[in-house]
Amino acid sequence: MAQPRRPPIPAAAREALLYRNDHTCCICNDRSRDVQIHHIDGDPANNAPENLAVVCLDCHSRVTGARGLGQSYRPGEVRKYKRTWERRLEARRHVHRPAPVDAGPLAAQVDLIVCEILASQRDAKKATRLLEVLYNLNLWRGDKSLRKRVVEGLSHLAMMTGLDSRSPVAPLVAKKLWEVCWHFIGPHDVPMDAEDERHVVRCIDALESLASFTCSNGHGRGALKATLEEVEKFFQVGLWYRRRRIINAALALYRKSRGDCSGWSYGPVALLASLRRLRRVSKQERASSPVQRQLQRLIADGDWIPATSR
Ligand SMILES: [Zn+2]
Repeated sequence: MAQPRRPPIPAAAREALLYRNDHTCCICNDRSRDVQIHHIDGDPANNAPENLAVVCLDCHSRVTGARGLGQSYRPGEVRKYKRTWERRLEARRHVHRPAPVDAGPLAAQVDLIVCEILASQRDAKKATRLLEVLYNLNLWRGDKSLRKRVVEGLSHLAMMTGLDSRSPVAPLVAKKLWEVCWHFIGPHDVPMDAEDERHVVRCIDALESLASFTCSNGHGRGALKATLEEVEKFFQVGLWYRRRRIINAALALYRKSRGDCSGWSYGPVALLASLRRLRRVSKQERASSPVQRQLQRLIADGDWIPATSR
């Protein structure tokens, strides 16, 4: 079997990550220890910034579970540590954004970038670059109005790329929705405010459009897989913060896209497999019993097997 591709982490991304983490392990925060970079989801090809954690050798061995009977850190926990540590350092450094400027022209830029992505839907390389511009614009100048515009732009992209079953851009949009929304999710010791929660719910709604359209088209396995991977992460965020709106938005995706998936044998199978992963996570995270019941009902009620393959 072919080994998974392991593209090196680009030097600039590696430097930025180490700087953001003060070259210090995000789990134990012990500055004296040597560190390395860990791929949180276990996929060595996924060099997205939110998937990379700086950990010391000792913590890394706990993360990868090579400690015999010891309990290893799960991906969700590592994400929490990373998030908390990076936010804490950011606050300590008083990183401030450039003085507010007139957001109007920047918002127009967001729309232009979105249009350009749509115009080059078959060109994954170009779309990747443009999505990165969108992401950075949000990080750099991300005031309220611009954040809203970026999320809206991504929602629009989700819908339009979901419609084009041959577009390689749809999975990239799913991923970017999570990366952008990741910044709305506070460290677990800081409550997420109502506006951040709204943004997160909007991102999940965009994933729902993507899932539904991909399903109606019935070709985009990659796009559906990428979408479900991201919605699973959002579900987990809902569990960490005990946010029913987020949990409900995530579960609604399964209910709503199920109908659109019924004509495509892969669709319902992928949705059901994803729901079962959510059930596992909700047990691990000790979700409240209403949430576990809701999941159980969804799994049991659903007409998950399409008529054609019964
Ligand atoms: Zn450590």
